[in-house]
Amino acid sequence: DPRGELIGGLIVDVPDFPKPGVVFKDITPLLASPEGFQATVDALVESAPEGVDVVVGMEARGFIFAAPVALALGAGFVPVRKPGKLPGETLSHSFELEYGSETLTIHRNAITPGARVLVVDDVLATGGTIGATAELLKAMGAELVHVSVVMELSFLHGRERLAGLGIDKCTALV
Ligand code: 5GP
Repeated sequence: DPRGELIGGLIVDVPDFPKPGVVFKDITPLLASPEGFQATVDALVESAPEGVDVVVGMEARGFIFAAPVALALGAGFVPVRKPGKLPGETLSHSFELEYGSETLTIHRNAITPGARVLVVDDVLATGGTIGATAELLKAMGAELVHVSVVMELSFLHGRERLAGLGIDKCTALV
């Protein structure tokens, strides 16, 4: 898959970031490449099922990919954010990280019940972020029809965590 090779070749391993022992996947070289960024958005758009009403992206790198995918699909874009950022009434969901916990929020009325939602993020690692987003969507009565990410870190078994939440439709480009 030449497109996958192009995309994967523009994601750079950064050892010991953000802390010792972690190898961070840096997507900024991919964004800086017009061919790479375009190929990524095209592939994410192709991964989407028919009839997506809303694309949801998570702060902050998810926004970069989810917004152009929403435009290409003729769908709306709805942000999932860290606490204290959204001005309206929100729903929140917290989940455990290796150290401490994380909370994600969404505007309570941003998505109509029954709407078909595509979730887009840059990296699927442990699946905590996408799992929490799925819980927010469930609480709103939205239908999560597909998850698409640029890169999956399969050794962290996020896909299995998502399967445990009933999410088995997940595309990773790399
Ligand atoms: P998870 O919740 O699946 O453990 O982690 C995924 C979230 O953390 C994504 O929103 C992603 O932006 C961020 N993340 C975790 N590890 C990496 C990484 O190595 N590179 C990048 N770019 N983001 C990461």
